[in-house]
Amino acid sequence: MKVNRNFDNLVPNYLFADVARKTNEFAAAHPEKEIIKLGIGDVTLPLAPIVVEAMKKGCEDLKYKETFKGYPEYEGYDFVREAVSGYYKRFGVSVAPDEIFVSDGAKSDCGNLPDIFSQDNTVLVTDPVYPVYVDANLMAGRKIIYASSNRDNHFLAMPDESVKADIIYLCSPNNPTGAVYSAEQLKEWIDYAADNNAIILYDAAYEAFIEDDSPRSIFAVEGARECAIELCSLSKTAGFTGTRCGYTVIPKELKRDGHSLHALWYRRQATKFNGVSWPVQCAAAEVFSNEGLRQIQENLNYYKKNAKIISNALDELGIYYTGGKNAPYIWLKCPNNMGSWEFFDYLLQNAAVVGTPGEGFGENGKGYFRLTSFGDRDKTVDAVGRIKNLLQNIVSI
Ligand code: PLP
Repeated sequence: MKVNRNFDNLVPNYLFADVARKTNEFAAAHPEKEIIKLGIGDVTLPLAPIVVEAMKKGCEDLKYKETFKGYPEYEGYDFVREAVSGYYKRFGVSVAPDEIFVSDGAKSDCGNLPDIFSQDNTVLVTDPVYPVYVDANLMAGRKIIYASSNRDNHFLAMPDESVKADIIYLCSPNNPTGAVYSAEQLKEWIDYAADNNAIILYDAAYEAFIEDDSPRSIFAVEGARECAIELCSLSKTAGFTGTRCGYTVIPKELKRDGHSLHALWYRRQATKFNGVSWPVQCAAAEVFSNEGLRQIQENLNYYKKNAKIISNALDELGIYYTGGKNAPYIWLKCPNNMGSWEFFDYLLQNAAVVGTPGEGFGENGKGYFRLTSFGDRDKTVDAVGRIKNLLQNIVSI
């Protein structure tokens, strides 16, 4: 037998392993120092109480023959899809319940959606990039091309008419840069996709962090229903990183090559996915109730305040960054033209603060650094104080 040799094309990414190793070595050498981690992409606040109650009730249902549930529907229960559709309506976007597929999170859908497309398709990602888009498509043997997100375009790569792509991944608010596309910019991508007969896979995992009039869904922009699939997640919206639930929207009219993409995805999910458990779907639906939305907003506000604390400090220091507003990530230029690993070491050694070196997210991450707002408030304040003390005397930022 032969293994899938496309795995040979994966670029070894030791980013988080190296971050952990260096952090552990520092901790062992300096047991007296309290290390603060602002690199984490996981949430730290618990689930909203009303969501936990719904999950408990869902578990109770499983205890009795009359209310027991077996295999769920592949595309999710109707009441969850209606709840998601109602959520879209709140920000003025019309998505029918039967266009929504409930999933176990956005990561699997990001990686699995290309199953419905040919291996010959060229995939375009923006650089820096959430690595799942790249690795999942390399495993399938697809060619990847990169659109450059950089300081000149405020880390919002735009389409290049001279480049031909078939599958386009866009992520807004972006991980790792926190940058957010405007409706006008998304329209340019939609027009490019239409001209190239391409499909946009739009990752809206961080839409709940948007607080101005930036689009929270690509379907808020004209033309998207003819060229886009949207993925979303309850992980950061409602703390479901461990609970696992998300959703993907495929408009009914979306076709390529004479085929309905909705029908192809249904077929794919029916073959390889057996749905999300009853208690988790009960919990997910409750997220979108009035009280659920109020409770999750408290957590979102907590993270947003952390982001403000970090970005205010960078403003004071005069350091260039993107994100922090409408996004949980802050993407900063390393001071004094340090490399991103150099700055990682500098911050760890001198302030005992851990962040994520930008080069782990692609070529354009070199010289950049990601901080997140998902930490504990007191620790975030402490870390920011240490960063300010350390960097305020550094020349030429
Ligand atoms: N998409 C982006 C851009 C992410 O940053 C993440 C998680 O970090 C995901 C998707 C994965 O989300 P989920 O937890 O729903 O699988």
